[in-house]
Amino acid sequence: MKILGIDLGGSRVKLAIVDAGRVQEMTIFPISHDIPMRAVLETVEAQARRMAGISGCRGIGFAYPGIVDMQNRRVLCINDKYTDAAETDFARWAKERFGLELILINDAAAALCGEMAYGAGRGADSAALLMVGTGVGTAVWSEGRLLTGKHGSMGILGGHIAIAHEQPRRCTCGNAGCLEAYAGTWALPGLAREHPGFERSVLQKAERIDYRTLAEGVEAGDAVCKDVFHSVCRALCVGAANLVHAYDPELLILSGGASRIGALRTAIQEHVDRYAWTPGGRVRVTAAENPEASVALGLSSLFEKR
Ligand SMILES: [Zn+2]
Repeated sequence: MKILGIDLGGSRVKLAIVDAGRVQEMTIFPISHDIPMRAVLETVEAQARRMAGISGCRGIGFAYPGIVDMQNRRVLCINDKYTDAAETDFARWAKERFGLELILINDAAAALCGEMAYGAGRGADSAALLMVGTGVGTAVWSEGRLLTGKHGSMGILGGHIAIAHEQPRRCTCGNAGCLEAYAGTWALPGLAREHPGFERSVLQKAERIDYRTLAEGVEAGDAVCKDVFHSVCRALCVGAANLVHAYDPELLILSGGASRIGALRTAIQEHVDRYAWTPGGRVRVTAAENPEASVALGLSSLFEKR
C-alpha cells in the first residue's frame, strides 16, 4: 500500500512516498519551528504535490515531534513548537486536501515502528529507541507492541528524564537537567560556546554546530570538539542506561543523524555493558541502517498492519 509519509522535525520536514516498507521517493526541506501549523501544512501540501508518486497514495502518515493522541489524531503537547498544533485537525486536513485517511503518531514512536518492521529491530520482541536529532526522542517496544500508556506519553519522554540536578542546564520543556539539554543538537552551540577554548576552536567559524561538525572536529584533533563530544557522549550513555533500567529491552536502537557516528554507538554499548543492570542478558546497542528513513518506514508499517 503506497502512502505519503510526513516526518516533521524541529528544523526540517522529510516527505516520503513509501510502499510496503520501500521508500520510493523522498524530499527534504527546512522548516522553522516557530511558525504556525497551518503554514507548515501549506508548505507540506505544496511540496507533496510536486512528488511523482503522490497520485497513487492511499493514506497519509504524519509523525509529529511531541505527545500525540493516536486514537483521536490530535497533538496533546507542543513543547514550544508549532504553536497551533494542538488545535489543528490533521485528519480533516488530509481528507479535505488529499481525500486520504491519516495516521498521527509521535516521531520517535514512528521511527521505532519502522525499525521493528523493516530495520534493526526485525525479529526482536522488545526494544528501546534513542533518536538524536534537534531534540532527543525515545520510544519503547515491549512484548511485541509499541508502548503508548494512558495519555500517549509512555516511553517517549526519555529525552526529558533529568540526568543532572546540580546547576542543571535549562531545557526547552521548562524543566532543567534533561538529557536533551545535554545532547540534543539544539544544545550543542551553547555547550561549545561555554568551553573556555571556543575562540580557538574550528567550531568558532562553523556555519552550524551540530553532530557532523563536532565529529569532523574530533577527527581533525580539535580539543574543544573532543571535550564537547565526550560530554555529549557521556550524557547519551547515562540516558541509554536509564532507558534500559526503565524498560528492560533486549535491544537499544540508535537513530537520528547522530547514530551514524560509530564512536557513539561503541561508547553507549560499553557503558550499558558496564553499568546497566541487565539480569536477563546483554542488551545489544545497534544503529538504524538508514536513519533518514526510519520514520517513513514506521508510517508505512502502521498502514500495512491495519
Ligand atoms: Zn526537558
